[in-house]
Amino acid sequence: MRNIALFSSENHQFILLNESEPGEEDGVRSNQYLVLHDGDGVLLDPGGFGVMPRVLAEMLRYIGPQQLKGIVLSHQDPDIVGGISTWLDLTDAPVYVSRIWLRFLPHYGIRGMHRFVGVPDEGMVFEVAPGFDLQLVPAHFLHSEGQINVYDPQSRILFSGDIGAAILPGDQNYAYVDDFQAHLPYIEAFHRRYMCSNRAARIWVNMVRRLDVDMIAPQHGPVYRGQAVKDFLDWFSELQCGIDLMTDSGHV
Ligand code: FE
Repeated sequence: MRNIALFSSENHQFILLNESEPGEEDGVRSNQYLVLHDGDGVLLDPGGFGVMPRVLAEMLRYIGPQQLKGIVLSHQDPDIVGGISTWLDLTDAPVYVSRIWLRFLPHYGIRGMHRFVGVPDEGMVFEVAPGFDLQLVPAHFLHSEGQINVYDPQSRILFSGDIGAAILPGDQNYAYVDDFQAHLPYIEAFHRRYMCSNRAARIWVNMVRRLDVDMIAPQHGPVYRGQAVKDFLDWFSELQCGIDLMTDSGHV
């Protein structure tokens, strides 16, 4: 899949970099996003170790390493963090991640933890540069206990991490979700098993509804736009998932 500019104005772009393969057939494909403003860039979920060279090559089509002003990790999983050591070597960018994961990340072999910024549970504004702010908003327990989303008020795109993620079968490859009902089979099982509970989902949906969101861009699979944004929020707010479905035997 080619890079897609999800939003583009004279000085601001929100780009979906190539959805990259992990190099092993059975790994999960993941999206990397690059937000650009007046020549500065922020990378969202740069990906695992195997995809790092390709993500870098794609990024270099837009900016050099010195123009990368920040990296945001939505949570602690290997498909997000696995390549971070190399990014730390190549750039001066600070790395934003939930504060609750800071003490676990050194186990990825990361040196330079002083470059990490622990995002508080209530979220924060990442002031990238004058005129370029990103809102780091809480999305805890969906699925990670410390997950952050990124809302870009200029493009009105919400990067949602694992929320809304889809694993498409090989014969399906579409960039945008326009028909939510047709898309539902590719997200339902994942959300029922990985998302913590309806309470967490509902709190997140209410937060998102207060933002002005045109697109929801997940870490895996196509991007929701138009009516599909509203349809996804309606569905997710009612979903029984995670511990809601646990039986006394411990199964879900
Ligand atoms: Fe994850």
